[in-house]
Amino acid sequence: MTRIQKFLDFFLPRICPSCKSQLDFTEEVICRKCLPRLKRVSEDIIFTEFQDKFKNDRIISDFTSLYYFEKDKEVHNIIHEFKYNGKFRIGLYLGALIACNLETRIRSWNIDYIFPVPLHHLRRSERGFNQSYYIAKGIKSQLKIPIAANLLKRQRFTDSQTHLSIIERKENVKDAFLVKKNKIISGKNILLLDDVITTGATISECGKVLLKAGTAKIYAASVAIPQ
Ligand SMILES: [Zn+2]
Repeated sequence: MTRIQKFLDFFLPRICPSCKSQLDFTEEVICRKCLPRLKRVSEDIIFTEFQDKFKNDRIISDFTSLYYFEKDKEVHNIIHEFKYNGKFRIGLYLGALIACNLETRIRSWNIDYIFPVPLHHLRRSERGFNQSYYIAKGIKSQLKIPIAANLLKRQRFTDSQTHLSIIERKENVKDAFLVKKNKIISGKNILLLDDVITTGATISECGKVLLKAGTAKIYAASVAIPQ
């Protein structure tokens, strides 16, 4: 494996998505300088964020996230490379990082299926893939929790939410999702997964339709939350 990796690195150099330096054969996806700089979210902050984003709606039972998303910092660069330059290996790696670092929390939820937050099919064809699906695959590879990728659909094309307030975001995603009636999700615990959870409006809307379709409990996780 190492010799093959050395060989491939010579002809097809792999680049760190954050600092753009060339990775050596011992480094996976993110270089050893950048990896420790990814800023972890503390348990206290997760608790406060849960209270702020999800507690009142009683849709999401618990939530966790791994890193802070800060403009022009490492996590921002990495997610940008992944989403907009089609580097899906980064997504698999981020999913594996979630699984390894947050395993105890995720296991305690007894998840039956991971649901990646879906993109509208027009957005997916523009980007070529759904980023959340690759993060989910990274989690699955470590924790062996199955993914249900096609049961939840985004039926309405929604505008980018970047510049919207919390109330506008809720309005923007209202009735945007549709769940295919399927016996396999009845009574099951679901983990909703997204790359970045900002206000939680999208996650809550997905959770709402899944609960209506008969699931038991909905949990949420993301690679990052805004700083
Ligand atoms: Zn780097």
